[in-house]
Amino acid sequence: MRSAKIILCVCSILGVCAQAQTSAQSKRIVIAASTVLDGKGGVLHNTRIVVAGAQIVAIDAKAGPVDYDLGGLTVLPGWIDAHVHINWFFGKDGKLAGGRAMADEAAYAAASNAWVTLMAGFTTVQNMGSPTTLRDAIAKDMLPGPRILTAVEPLMGRGEQTGTPDEIRAYVRKQKEAGADLIKIYASGGMRQGRMTLSQEQLNAACDEAKKQGLRTLVHAYRDAVRAATLAGCTEVEHGLGATDGDLRLMAEKGTYFDPQAGLLLENYLLNKAKYAGTPFYPATEEGFSVFEEILPMNHELLQRAAKIPGLKIVFGTDAVAGAHGRNAEEFIDRVRDCGVDPMAAMVSANSLGAEALGMADQIGSIGPGLQADIIALDGDPLQDITAVRRVVFVMKGGIVYKNAARGAIPVYAGIQP
Ligand SMILES: [Zn+2]
Repeated sequence: MRSAKIILCVCSILGVCAQAQTSAQSKRIVIAASTVLDGKGGVLHNTRIVVAGAQIVAIDAKAGPVDYDLGGLTVLPGWIDAHVHINWFFGKDGKLAGGRAMADEAAYAAASNAWVTLMAGFTTVQNMGSPTTLRDAIAKDMLPGPRILTAVEPLMGRGEQTGTPDEIRAYVRKQKEAGADLIKIYASGGMRQGRMTLSQEQLNAACDEAKKQGLRTLVHAYRDAVRAATLAGCTEVEHGLGATDGDLRLMAEKGTYFDPQAGLLLENYLLNKAKYAGTPFYPATEEGFSVFEEILPMNHELLQRAAKIPGLKIVFGTDAVAGAHGRNAEEFIDRVRDCGVDPMAAMVSANSLGAEALGMADQIGSIGPGLQADIIALDGDPLQDITAVRRVVFVMKGGIVYKNAARGAIPVYAGIQP
């Protein structure tokens, strides 16, 4: 679309041009691939993907001429991260930036986070709360970045103070008016002990009203809040520490999506403890971060158990905060290496299943005619060696190529280290 528009402008100046415009619109891009993971668990060999405009229009082994030869790589749909905090960054003082950061510094940091996330192969992310500015700038092609779906202001559970069910319903409608794609709800306190911060009645009101408004609900929940969110008909449970097998089975039965974190989040806190220590909601000292070392095995145990529950829909969400943007794919490695998740299931969780959880399965998350041309390629086979997810050498989003690096050029991280 963009190139067609540019041509139109130039053409109207030159006054010659219907022909050039037509050829821009009909220009097809042919991608040759030796291995394609289709995003739904299937594998195609020695085929070609034909892209026109923003969409895939055909899978045709005979299509040509070839524009991009991705032979020897693993081609798959761009990944979807169901849970990021794209606006979080470390400020000039080296600490997690809060509200005191300059507005322009915060804006550039968010734009940078979006860029490194896209370079790491994530073509769609769900953001947990910010104004819609960055989402809209990327959607208009003003900035490169993943497609963003965003909550605006989260519903923070504060017991009775949160409000009556009617007040909560009004709050949900206010989010919709502010342009939210989803409602983020905090229904419990901290990872280890925090209790429910919303009653069943309050959660019922929030998730029911969101559904009426056509919005999905993502609920930060531990222990009892997991079951309560499931019973309330909320769309997706985030985190979930303390969920029993019974809770997990109930989620499977009700079709509630589950988004647990296998490691990146806590590993990132440990890696960056000096930058988080003493900031609001974090331990005051670096020593205090040893608590996260204790919680990490609990996360592994939860995902190991969840992966065995038949029919439970486990999506891929990293909870990427400052320090983790562009390293989102580390979570795949944690899932496969530390939690025994099947590598293909890990890929599907960030492709077709992730798209289904967003209500976008007909647009993204798989490779086939009519889908958005969100296509990435890895230098390696993630089914044999999951660390291949670090070596993203090709990124196309909506038919535009943002990255096409030489093989072997990316030794470690797919994202650019900020
Ligand atoms: Zn989060």
